[in-house]
Amino acid sequence: MITVMRYGHRVGRDKRTTTHVGLVARAFGADEFILVGNDKSPIKTIKSVTKNWGGSFKCSLIKNWRKYLKDFKGLKLHLTMYGEPYKSVISKIKTNQNILIFVGAEKVPIDVYKTCDFNIAVISQPHSEIGALAVFLENLKIDTSKKFKDAKLKIEPEREGKSVIKL
Ligand code: SAM
Repeated sequence: MITVMRYGHRVGRDKRTTTHVGLVARAFGADEFILVGNDKSPIKTIKSVTKNWGGSFKCSLIKNWRKYLKDFKGLKLHLTMYGEPYKSVISKIKTNQNILIFVGAEKVPIDVYKTCDFNIAVISQPHSEIGALAVFLENLKIDTSKKFKDAKLKIEPEREGKSVIKL
């Protein structure tokens, strides 16, 4: 089970970025997205994508994120440009266990760096939570072949044009 926790969401301003973090989490093979705070709108969008495009991706809001992180039974990872290069730690990470991936927005409190098992950089340069999460999940090599069951819509990949099948 792979959970992505998004910390630091500014209502209005971060709506699109947070939604994209959740959509990347789903598309690249995570099982769950948890947003810190009380803005329901990204959750609503991600749930509606899951309804149409399949799978059992879970989405929820959380207030007491510190307790959740502290009590989480499994491997705790924090994506940050200050961490160890992902290429040097990713081979140690097995995906058949509970994994929590903590993704920031604004400044992440220092105790997160200490609570997590690994602080992981996807290139030691500042860029984007969306980009970092996508690259990291893709390199975890999660099997996504059975993730999108009971979809209403499916893309038939085309060299040119667009083909969406209604199932
Ligand atoms: N100072 C931040 C940091 O620690 O990476 C950059 C802030 S960035 C606007 C917001 C979030 O994007 C960060 O909290 C982190 O989760 C993610 N992020 C940005 N650049 C990253 C990188 N090079 N490697 C891993 N995560 C990154």
